[in-house]
Amino acid sequence: MEQTLIIFKPSAIERSLVGRILSRFEQKGLIITGMKMMKLSEEILRRHYAHLVDKPFFPSIIASMTASPVIVMCLKGVDAINVVRSMTGSTNGRNAAPGTIRGDFSMSGQENIIHASSSQADAEIEIKRFFLDDEIFDRLPYSTPFYYEDAEIQL
Ligand code: ADP
Repeated sequence: MEQTLIIFKPSAIERSLVGRILSRFEQKGLIITGMKMMKLSEEILRRHYAHLVDKPFFPSIIASMTASPVIVMCLKGVDAINVVRSMTGSTNGRNAAPGTIRGDFSMSGQENIIHASSSQADAEIEIKRFFLDDEIFDRLPYSTPFYYEDAEIQL
């Protein structure tokens, strides 16, 4: 199974959307393996959004992501990275499909509720960026055979 990193951005925290969004992940069958609240520094955001540091809107991203604490979360499942990305929807909430998290909760290109890792390579780096090894509980709940066929659990 894969693990992927989610950040509940200040737009989720301050609008009290965490429970509703987390419920979507739980009801889908994703397994929580790590979760904590933290305040993000500019330094960690410069690494996390390194592909955007030269954009004119980068200072606005820093202000947005440091406006309140965030909740970082690690979710596990078969093909979890793609599953969570498709549940998240496209970057701009106005273009995101209805039924996705951004499509249902965001009207903005910036204030778009959550971050979700976009590839396996990114997920591995991002989990290490936000969690210490002993903060990840790589577990399988007893209910797993009721979410997956036996062969899928090995994936
Ligand atoms: P995603 O979060 O969908 O993976 P990106 O990695 O391209 O998208 O962008 C990271 C974050 O930067 C976005 O989620 C959004 O909060 C912000 N962002 C991206 N593009 C813009 C933009 N044009 N204006 C303002 N904020 C943006």
